[in-house]
Amino acid sequence: MTTWTERYAGALMNTFGPPKMALVRGEGAHVWDEHGTEYVDFLGGIAVNTLGHAHPGLVKALSEQVATLGHVSNFFTTPAQVELAERLLALLVPDAEGRVFFCSTGAEANEAALKLSRLTGRSHVVAMEEAFHGRTMGSLSLTAKAAYREPFEPLPGGVTWVPFGDADALAAAVTDETAAVVIEPLQGEAGVNVAPTEYLRAARRITTEAGALLWFDEVQSGMGRTGSWLASHPSGVVPDLVTLAKGLGGGMPIGALIGVGEAASMFDPGQHGTTFGGNPLSCSAALAVLEAIESEGLLERATVVGDRLRAGLAEDPRVVDVRGVGVLVGLSLAEEKAPAVVAAAQDAGFVLNATGPRRVRLAPPLVVTDADVDALIGAWPGILDAAEVGSPDGPGEGSG
Ligand SMILES: *Cc1c(COP(=O)(O)O)cnc(C)c1O
Repeated sequence: MTTWTERYAGALMNTFGPPKMALVRGEGAHVWDEHGTEYVDFLGGIAVNTLGHAHPGLVKALSEQVATLGHVSNFFTTPAQVELAERLLALLVPDAEGRVFFCSTGAEANEAALKLSRLTGRSHVVAMEEAFHGRTMGSLSLTAKAAYREPFEPLPGGVTWVPFGDADALAAAVTDETAAVVIEPLQGEAGVNVAPTEYLRAARRITTEAGALLWFDEVQSGMGRTGSWLASHPSGVVPDLVTLAKGLGGGMPIGALIGVGEAASMFDPGQHGTTFGGNPLSCSAALAVLEAIESEGLLERATVVGDRLRAGLAEDPRVVDVRGVGVLVGLSLAEEKAPAVVAAAQDAGFVLNATGPRRVRLAPPLVVTDADVDALIGAWPGILDAAEVGSPDGPGEGSG
């Protein structure tokens, strides 16, 4: 009998490499493959499944919405769209005047922000060397990584890259021709790197002085994943632009650009748009996510369960560094064995992800339980054994 993964190769473009398995069902932080094997999902669809799988609140909201009104176009609005925009502004920028533009993905939210930044009359953008902002031509133009960019050049230009966290380098790169500075307050794809609070504050000072927009890409770090609505919230820094997507819809495709202050009203009618943006299905899903985060205390939970996870994984000496905030967790291994660790974890019944040769990322649903976390921590030494990860001071230590 052919499996779904075998049939995939004959029908799907090979943009992602072969799928690791075919999943057929999920519940909470657990998923099942086509053979009925159960896994604990510590990836959460890459920081998307905020409420895990088949959350009753999400199921109810989507079922009711699709049975009432599924799509209307942007000639019209819907209660779900307006309510979501109001709630996002109240939660994310409570002390400022803001407006929301809805789209369907993170890359599209960044495209919208990049286009908006051109309306300053300037076109220079400063981005971070290890940043990831998406795969469309505009969002890709912000990415420094040669392997992602080069096959698709020429890309929109005028981008300068600076090292993440270096305020002096940022100050030197920003001029009176800079339209925007784009920062992930917590870099996800780069392997989970947290921007120091002082860096975000310096970025605010530097951009304000130069008359440039400060743009936080919180596509991965936003919507409660770090124990705050935005990863940048604890810094107190209010940016001009915030982009969101992944966790916002709990699995339904939705992205958003929030403009604050003057940036809230820079787009005029006809300058930007998208057919699916703000459709009632995605918006009612996002409202259900917000509702569950509040009613189930999931911000507090993200902090508690994330700390438990980091502490447990760090106990093994073959883990040389553990990073992140809340349930966005990155760790570095003593050797370049991250793909082998991900494979060994899957054999042991856990879904993890490698962001580099030594780097493992975990982004479980906010509803992951202590028992789920303890199961991984209990299995962790055996997973590292199976992947043959050496200890930092043992023979055969890896480098790089
Ligand atoms: C995933 C991601 C994107 C791109 O989002 P897509 O929905 O894949 O287009 C942009 N920025 C950051 C920080 C991301 O993690």
